[in-house]
Amino acid sequence: MTVMSGCGYGGGSLTYQGMTLQPSRAVFESEFPAALDYDEMDRHYRTVADTIGIATAPDRIAEAPTYEAPRVFKRRAEAAGFEVERIPMPINWSFAEAELDGRVKPSYTNGDCAFGVNNGGKHSLDVTYLRRAERTGRLEKRLLHRVDGVARTRSGEWEVTAVRTDERGTPQETVVITTPALVMAAGSGNTSKMLVRARALGMIPDLPDATGTDWGTNADRIYVWTSLSERLPSPQGGPVVFGSKDWADPARANTVIQASIPPIVLAGLGVDPNSTILVGYGVSEERGRWAYDALADRATLRWRHEGDRVIQTEKIGPRVRAVAGAASVLLDTNAVVPSTWHPMGGASMGTTCDFEGRVQGQRGLYVLDGALLPGTAGACNPSMTIAAVAERAMARIVRDDVGTVI
Ligand SMILES: Cc1cc2nc3c(=O)[nH]c(=O)nc-3n(C[C@H](O)[C@H](O)[C@H](O)COP(=O)(O)OP(=O)(O)OC[C@H]3O[C@@H](n4cnc5c(N)ncnc54)[C@H](O)[C@@H]3O)c2cc1C
Repeated sequence: MTVMSGCGYGGGSLTYQGMTLQPSRAVFESEFPAALDYDEMDRHYRTVADTIGIATAPDRIAEAPTYEAPRVFKRRAEAAGFEVERIPMPINWSFAEAELDGRVKPSYTNGDCAFGVNNGGKHSLDVTYLRRAERTGRLEKRLLHRVDGVARTRSGEWEVTAVRTDERGTPQETVVITTPALVMAAGSGNTSKMLVRARALGMIPDLPDATGTDWGTNADRIYVWTSLSERLPSPQGGPVVFGSKDWADPARANTVIQASIPPIVLAGLGVDPNSTILVGYGVSEERGRWAYDALADRATLRWRHEGDRVIQTEKIGPRVRAVAGAASVLLDTNAVVPSTWHPMGGASMGTTCDFEGRVQGQRGLYVLDGALLPGTAGACNPSMTIAAVAERAMARIVRDDVGTVI
């Protein structure tokens, strides 16, 4: 299983498409522990939506020449009997409209946005949450620092060992930071790896037995769809306009979307491959775990091959094939290289942590990232739920821990 994650000041939000979906009440209550009340979470979801400023693509974009592939997806999905809607994105779409007017260099309208947006308008975390933190004047950034280890000192403080690197990753110096309270937010894979290693080496004694477990992939499935009957011309506008939710049965809830094919796929081909990307994801009971590999001195993932088989064979695969139709070639990239863009869990709520991200039995140690999710995002892309869970946690941590633990 290859786990993809963003790297930089803003994390995955720098390069993610930004699909910002909130699970329905029925799916949420079926997938998440009862301790998370949906009505309360709903308020936090709205805070996230306001903070990152989400909007669906306006008609002018959906009808623009390079957005033929989204229109084909919508028409074919509806013809196959699926409901289709516009997907909320953390984007000021007027920047994409400025591209249509020739006022700025294309980024959205040619699919370049798959690698980050260079002309503005994307509300990634560096210009939303992190900028808000900067404005307090109490944030000290240490860019180009790679944390290699986390440990608990004899006095019960937290010791973070990092290597400062240059922009090519070459080590420059080792930095050790000691703090009474530490919030880990390196993402599901990286937080899990650090905790599992710290547990195995006794760097943090008495970490819960569950550390590294409850890890899930969101059942991500990424297809390259080449149509023999439809026009899917390039360059292709993005990142995402339309998606199809199939959430009526919470146990089989899934979502299928179309995303622009990145220009790099086309570079050097010299021909238009008449292709686009279809992505499916949904709920799955399968969970993997991170385990320490002493020979490699790092935690590695244990994941059962085709662990997400049920949702894939019953829902995602058939729905994608129905949209594409018979006159198509579908390359199921996960069948070639199993991968996920949506890792979740590993320091999960209710087992390794409490519901506010406090690591059980470890005063002053918190996890507030995708690792805290219980291996599921309820058939949604995970970033909105990760942020809403963190919003809920911060409200309580500020109320209950600041002044005592912090
Ligand atoms: C290509 C792609 C497209 C995606 N599209 C969507 C989408 O449309 N919608 C959606 O909701 N989600 C999407 N995702 C998933 C989304 O990006 C993640 O779910 C989300 O960013 C996870 O948030 P996080 O806070 O858990 O961790 P991250 O966003 O991964 O942040 C972790 C941070 O920690 C840093 N870090 C990690 N390890 C270390 C270390 N050892 N030392 C120092 N720093 C470290 C990283 O640089 C990063 O800044 C996509 C992901 C990818 C890869």
